[in-house]
Amino acid sequence: MAPRPLLPSPLRDVEDERFGRHGVRLALKRDDLIHPHLVGNKWRKLVPNLAAAAGRPVVTFGGAYSNHLRATAAAGRLLGLETVGVVRGQELAGRPLNASLARCAADGMRLHFTDRAAYRRKAEPETLAALLRAAGAEDAHVVPEGGSNARAVRGCRALGEELRGRAGVVAVPCGTGGTLAGLAAGLGPGQRALGIPVLKGGFLAAETAALQERAFGGRRGDWWLEDGFHCGGYGRTTPALEAFAQDFEERHGLPVERLYVAKMLSALLVLTERGAFPPGTRLAAVITGRPFP
Ligand SMILES: *Cc1c(COP(=O)(O)O)cnc(C)c1O
Repeated sequence: MAPRPLLPSPLRDVEDERFGRHGVRLALKRDDLIHPHLVGNKWRKLVPNLAAAAGRPVVTFGGAYSNHLRATAAAGRLLGLETVGVVRGQELAGRPLNASLARCAADGMRLHFTDRAAYRRKAEPETLAALLRAAGAEDAHVVPEGGSNARAVRGCRALGEELRGRAGVVAVPCGTGGTLAGLAAGLGPGQRALGIPVLKGGFLAAETAALQERAFGGRRGDWWLEDGFHCGGYGRTTPALEAFAQDFEERHGLPVERLYVAKMLSALLVLTERGAFPPGTRLAAVITGRPFP
């Protein structure tokens, strides 16, 4: 894959008095710098899956703005594999592609639009088989929606290993919980992993535990979740969150991805102000991606 990935990704301290006045030292784990075309946790999750595909096409699933679909398309191009994206929403077929799907197509992904009822049932074997047949991808390597399977979770363990002994708490934004599951397993003794869910629902603790069970055979590491920072759900935002993200970009010269990273960073500030981290804590925030486009 050219250019080569930047691993381990850099860990950089930032000066931010809003954290400093509570005795918390903030550091940014710049996973957004791993690779110019395939960033962050998506690199860590997809590369092991594309290796397992062993030359077969890779099929995966997502909505019309899915970071995961774009990342899979980019990974396919970089690694020379055919990719097929099953996209939620039959009504999108035949319409002009949005910027996110246009990028998928430009990276060579074949898009197959499907109705929402079938999409919801895609984990059921018969529905999946029918979807793969309809998409012309029956012999494909299937990666689940959001990309979190046992291989992806084990791929994220290296993120924790890179941070061993380097922070008391490591925070990560969560969609499926796969990145958190792997991160927590890779950390060393005395280190804790904190997940900030960006979806509404409160189902993520069980999901993360189930992913660890599948990847490692049981619960690993010391991790917890802080709910209540999703701003109404996936893709939702508030004026306060948008102002926070713009201000963070100006203070620290970092492009702040809005779906995940902004919610995590603003949650960390609120939690710091509530006294959730003891003075002297080094808090590493994983910058899991960067804004699109
Ligand atoms: C996909 C994504 C996540 C969520 O990762 P999970 O392993 O599904 O929890 C977090 N941050 C960014 C920027 C992402 O694109």
